[in-house]
Amino acid sequence: MRLLLVEDDPRLRAQLRAGLGEAGYAVDEADNGVDAQHLGQTETYDAVVLDLGLPRLDGLSVLERWRAAGRTMPVLILTARDGWHEKVAGIDAGADDYLVKPFHMEELLARLRALIRRAQGLASPLLRSGTLALDTRSGRVTVDGQAVPLTAHEFRLLAYLMHRPGQVVSRTELTEHLYAQDFDRDSNTIEVFVGRLRRKLPPETIETVRGLGYRLGALP
Ligand code: CA
Repeated sequence: MRLLLVEDDPRLRAQLRAGLGEAGYAVDEADNGVDAQHLGQTETYDAVVLDLGLPRLDGLSVLERWRAAGRTMPVLILTARDGWHEKVAGIDAGADDYLVKPFHMEELLARLRALIRRAQGLASPLLRSGTLALDTRSGRVTVDGQAVPLTAHEFRLLAYLMHRPGQVVSRTELTEHLYAQDFDRDSNTIEVFVGRLRRKLPPETIETVRGLGYRLGALP
């Protein structure tokens, strides 16, 4: 999963970047509204963390422009402690959730997991496909109850597929959702990761759909 983090306070941004990275997300960053608006309009994100008080263009305007342009990614806004009116304006502008500063990293992560799940119509935090299970809360992957150790990249790939059971996902889509903007992308690396992941999972868990991409079996 790939996130856009928009926050102008360098210390908070660094903290959030570290926490989101540890949680397994690929993270792009912006420290002002103009860059944020451009990234959200041209890149693909599974969710956005958007501070409202931003230089150059305020967060509310950024959000309104994304929604006016038809961008539908889940957006969680960060508001000031006494900014109840900001929450109302933010939600009315198309935000999906909010957090009041200061907040705990764990709460941000839980809210993001829920937004990403809900965006795919999934209610349960435990994702299953046959004997394969991925607990989005702990990041634990099991087959028949036995833990499967995965690298960060393998986990990100599997999590993306498990959020889309039964759907064909193209290599291009995977590339867009697994890597941050500054990562040296090479579509061949997706095939390498799929190959490695397959060796750790039950046979035929990840199906190749010729010419189109990959598909994980539908949830039972
Ligand atoms: Ca700010």
